[in-house]
Amino acid sequence: MPSKYTRLEAKKLAISRSERSIERPRDAQGKLLKVSEYYGKNVFHFSSAPGIPESVKKELETVCLTGSTLKKENAEIVAKAVTEWAIENGATHFCHWFQPLTGSTAEKHDAFLDLENDSPIEKLSATQLMQGEPDASSFPNGGSRSTFEARGYTSWDLTSPMFIVEGVNGNTLCIPTAFVSYYGDALDIKTPLLRSVTILNDLATEFMNLIGYKNTKRVNVTCGAEQEYFLIDKSFYYARPDLVMTGRTLLGSISQKNQQLDDHYFGRIPERVLSCMEEIDFELHKLGIPAKTRHNEVAPGQFELAQIFRDANIAADNNQLVMSTIKDVAEKHNFVALLHEKPFAGVNGSGKHLNWSLATDEGLNLLEPGSEPHSNTKFLAVTAIVIEAVHRRAKLLRMGIASQGNDHRLGANEAPPSIISVFTGSTLEKIFSSIKDGSAFSPEGDVILDLGAHQLANLAMDNTDRNRTSPFAFTGNKFEFRAVGSTQSVGFPLSLLNAAVAEVFEDSITFLKKELKSGSESDINSALMKLTKKWITNSWDIIFNGDGYSKEWLVEAEKRGLPNLKNTADALPVLLDTEQTRYLSEKGIFKKQELEMRFNVLIERYNTLREIEFSTLLGLVKKNVLPAAFEFKKNLAEVIKLQREIGLESSVETDIYKKLNFNVETLYANFNNLTNAVETSIEDEVRKSVEIANVIFPLSEQLADSCNEIEDMMPNELWQLPTYYEMLFLR
Ligand code: ADP
Ligand code: MG
Repeated sequence: MPSKYTRLEAKKLAISRSERSIERPRDAQGKLLKVSEYYGKNVFHFSSAPGIPESVKKELETVCLTGSTLKKENAEIVAKAVTEWAIENGATHFCHWFQPLTGSTAEKHDAFLDLENDSPIEKLSATQLMQGEPDASSFPNGGSRSTFEARGYTSWDLTSPMFIVEGVNGNTLCIPTAFVSYYGDALDIKTPLLRSVTILNDLATEFMNLIGYKNTKRVNVTCGAEQEYFLIDKSFYYARPDLVMTGRTLLGSISQKNQQLDDHYFGRIPERVLSCMEEIDFELHKLGIPAKTRHNEVAPGQFELAQIFRDANIAADNNQLVMSTIKDVAEKHNFVALLHEKPFAGVNGSGKHLNWSLATDEGLNLLEPGSEPHSNTKFLAVTAIVIEAVHRRAKLLRMGIASQGNDHRLGANEAPPSIISVFTGSTLEKIFSSIKDGSAFSPEGDVILDLGAHQLANLAMDNTDRNRTSPFAFTGNKFEFRAVGSTQSVGFPLSLLNAAVAEVFEDSITFLKKELKSGSESDINSALMKLTKKWITNSWDIIFNGDGYSKEWLVEAEKRGLPNLKNTADALPVLLDTEQTRYLSEKGIFKKQELEMRFNVLIERYNTLREIEFSTLLGLVKKNVLPAAFEFKKNLAEVIKLQREIGLESSVETDIYKKLNFNVETLYANFNNLTNAVETSIEDEVRKSVEIANVIFPLSEQLADSCNEIEDMMPNELWQLPTYYEMLFLR
């Protein structure tokens, strides 16, 4: 087949695929096992491991809860037990599994195989379990280590369970670890997250004790991430170099029908997609990841997976595995999963809603309003604390979700804007407003929705009437940070949010200590109301319950003085803004040099990713768009010439030829503009990022537009790149 027919070949393949079925596990009698019977089968919990004595389990539990030092002899016992378990379950190798600043996870495998007096044995020592020393010189470090000191250490995170990843020909035991430099600087996502969780726990616990919850020993951060993704047929993917190189289509003419009818959202899940989702859930359940919800999303070809919320550190690890499992399983079904925030221009992008709350060790959710939120002083105070935190650290939170991919999404179709605001819902807004103004609040009672059909159960109207256009919304009993990008590790925005909330808890504790007199219930309630009033009054401007997509909001937000960091180049310098980062460095959540390092890594990453996009786009123009246009021109010219020879004028062909020629000339001018812009090299990465965001990227968009003009004119068989219609609709 000549290469120009790759697209039509891909199309044939895509529509001829069948569903892949898998063997679900059964018991000895051949009866299908329930999910609960194989859930977590590939996870090692020391609390239920047979080889570990009860006393050691207790000690390990304490290490997890208090962060006290792990004794080497206890690590020895765990190493022995986990080795036995892993080998029994088919593992031949183990690895330290960590999250460097590359945006994904890293692992280096070692065999359990060892030699003892030249005889083969299987072994994992305590040291191998606790510490690894990957050759870290190739991981992004933002200049925090000089090249001669390339050592980095991975260190076992006891609080996140070890798990087995099944391969086709053997299994691997993965040990979740943190990754730090020789000097102890965090080179990863996990370390600052753990620090932020610890500090928030300490302060929130102190706060609870202070307001009368004397038995509260711990306050956990809970997190549930919803993951959005696209599935397209594998054959289309490999026929689109832009998808392979950059994860998104750099050009492409939008199909006539896309999401105008909203007919994909929550629609019937296509059979082939469902079989893929079933396998994804199956794999996740074996890994002890509580995948719960699956559905079609708004854009054609877009889907979502949500898991049950849990402890933030584990949820962050889980989400990494969710992303890699979606990708791996999709391939087995001849799909490719696109996790990019904006794979297709003009239809919805993908986010990762980060649901967040705080829960005590006794299971009390601090953001649970109860039936009478207006008199639930603890709920009001904690909610006000979070709102003040978002108000104070809006810039940091915006920075925490900045990436070249998310730049396409924030502010675009169905995406929350890049202005950080908080949605409270109208009831909560009224309550806060009355507290702020010192007026009385009269509850309107439960609003029952009249469905007009008596067969249906009455539904109490959710008075948070969730707002999709808000980047940060209160949704019933948790906050939902909706602006997080779909490819991103949740660990980074989580660390920043935890730190921001911890900071306000700390101030609140100081405030309450001054306010509290007798410690009686009414004394505590009145102090909490004063605290709520203080924070709500201070942060009133960040509360916005209107339409975040509207032009009016842009104007209004500016009037209120809310920051609007439009793109990544605008947002990343916040990492160096000492006013915003003071608390982070004071508390050691991110040390000063770690902030600088992250800034360097992220800026460079932004520049490099964009540069890859520019050169890929230029390549596509040279190799695909122009040759196709020339071929069409040749065909038209031939017809015009032939017609002339037999004495006929071809006005239609001439007209189309002229239009095509005009488009090709425009395209070529835009091509040259981008080429020249890319070639002017700027050494300084920061200046470069500004140039890329404000000058070069817009040029690439112009070039993409002129490609789309040509694509729209092309005869079907002359266009080689799979179209939006094919990628979004054929499966
Ligand atoms: P929606 O798409 O309507 O927001 P989903 O059911 O898809 O709702 O997702 C809600 C997410 O919020 C789930 O991951 C859920 O586990 C999580 N969640 C629920 N309660 C809490 C909580 N207290 N803390 C953190 N996350 C929570
Ligand atoms: Mg959802």
